[in-house]
Amino acid sequence: SCDAAGVVAGIRAVAATIAEHKVELTRLDRDIGDGDHGENMARGFTAVLAKLDAGEPDTPSAVLKLVASTLISTVGGAAGPLYGTAFLRASTAVKEATTLDPQAIVTALTAGRDGVVARGKAELEDKTMVDALTPAVNAARAAADAGGDVAAVLRAAANDAAMGAAATIPLQARKGRASYLGARSIGHQDPGATSTAYLLEALAAVAE
Ligand code: ADP
Ligand code: MG
Ligand code: MG
Repeated sequence: SCDAAGVVAGIRAVAATIAEHKVELTRLDRDIGDGDHGENMARGFTAVLAKLDAGEPDTPSAVLKLVASTLISTVGGAAGPLYGTAFLRASTAVKEATTLDPQAIVTALTAGRDGVVARGKAELEDKTMVDALTPAVNAARAAADAGGDVAAVLRAAANDAAMGAAATIPLQARKGRASYLGARSIGHQDPGATSTAYLLEALAAVAE
């Protein structure tokens, strides 16, 4: 299982991955949005790193809460409140835990996804981050129920998130800025689903 330091290591890896893919995420958002998703996410996770450098919280829940409040106040756009809500719900869902076991990882991922859905009202195949999050949650649950450890659960989540992100390409957007394009949103991968896949890939890689 994974303690607060492990969650911090995961979040630092996410920040590095988001920085690495900033230009790509912005380019995807230029195709079907306003061309700021990479900048938004990189600004948010740079601020998260600064907060962690100033002092690391000592429970998984408190780390997730720090991420939530920082993303909400720095990312902006649609993604800021949505990712902020996801981390806040995940934080609340594991409030009592000093370490996260595989089932707690599933609980946190599920709560995060449910928070995004509650806030953004997107359904599957609306071409949003939900199209990466929901397959990730389902794969994580299956892996945990099959007896997988934290690394196996996160690996399953990351793999299915990446497939979900790729599967947004042929979809027409029905939520967010991309929906203004109508049929012209078809043929492009959703930036938010892509950042979700990168985020989970970073968490999985650190756990391995
Ligand atoms: P903005 O569109 O405000 O500039 P970003 O570019 O940072 O914000 O984020 C865009 C991403 O947010 C989209 O690619 C999509 O994945 C996600 N998104 C937008 N609206 C919703 C929604 N209602 N529910 C879930 N995700 C959404
Ligand atoms: Mg944008
Ligand atoms: Mg914007």
